Amino acid sequence: MAKDPTASSGKRCWLPVDADTSLLALDGSATPGFPGEEASAREQTEVLRTELVELQARLYAESRQRLLVVLQAMDTGGKDGVIRKVFSGVNPLGVKVARFERPTEAELSRDYLWRVHPHVPANGEIVIFNRSHYEDVLVVRVNALVPKARWKLRYDHIREFERMLADEGTTIVKFYLHIDRDEQARRLQARLDDPQRQWKFDPHDLEQRKHWNAYMLAFRDAIVQTDRKCAPWYTIPANRKWYRDWAVMNILVRTLRDMNPRFPAPTIDPATITIT
Ligand code: ATP
Ligand code: MG
Repeated sequence: MAKDPTASSGKRCWLPVDADTSLLALDGSATPGFPGEEASAREQTEVLRTELVELQARLYAESRQRLLVVLQAMDTGGKDGVIRKVFSGVNPLGVKVARFERPTEAELSRDYLWRVHPHVPANGEIVIFNRSHYEDVLVVRVNALVPKARWKLRYDHIREFERMLADEGTTIVKFYLHIDRDEQARRLQARLDDPQRQWKFDPHDLEQRKHWNAYMLAFRDAIVQTDRKCAPWYTIPANRKWYRDWAVMNILVRTLRDMNPRFPAPTIDPATITIT
């Protein structure tokens, strides 16, 4: 089970998931660790943003550590929203987003991690995976795109892949943004109703929605099988966007605090230098 990064303040801002958990029973509107109101969550998020910006500036300047953030959710679950809202204000020089869509022919003709590895963060970088190698045990499993005999081995591969990244100096944090099926219906309808968001409506999402229960099982198994100290999963109730953003921000800031990046010591003595 993942270490609770908010333990120091006595708060846990995510939902524990184990082999006995049914994700169908998890409340997407829950607000664990935040008993207050939306307005104070938004205020706290802004305070934390200042700290995130400062920590990321140090990570970039130090250029010795790297952070991988994995985002997974059902369609409309808020991955794009988290990227837009949580990371707004950080220096784009040090932050990249890698998006994993349906694999190309070239990708399909290799192993499933082939397309993933080139996108992992370099020293000083934060990389956000918008979807990830987990699709290969989620959409692939639910739609039987490869036989079970193949996908069931992948949890092992993924554990080892992430352990290798961690052993080699990458900090990993993984978020599953959990919305309810009813909330997805509302969000899909909102896309249909708003001319400025109709472009986001994808009929493919309706097909996947039919498999909701199978997805909940696949997510639960992925989380339970790959939740490691070196690559923890955080299940964030995400029906309420203000809560989702606060919780993700909270965990990111605490993760970066633990990494404790520092501005490099100057290699020169400024007192000895005169700019002419
Ligand atoms: P948005 O929320 O903006 O719609 P999205 O993440 O759904 O963003 P899309 O381009 O609409 O992005 O969809 C990507 C699609 O690619 C998803 O349906 C996802 O399940 C699928 N996909 C990703 N990886 C794989 C994979 N390895 N095999 C099969 N399908 C995949
Ligand atoms: Mg989509």
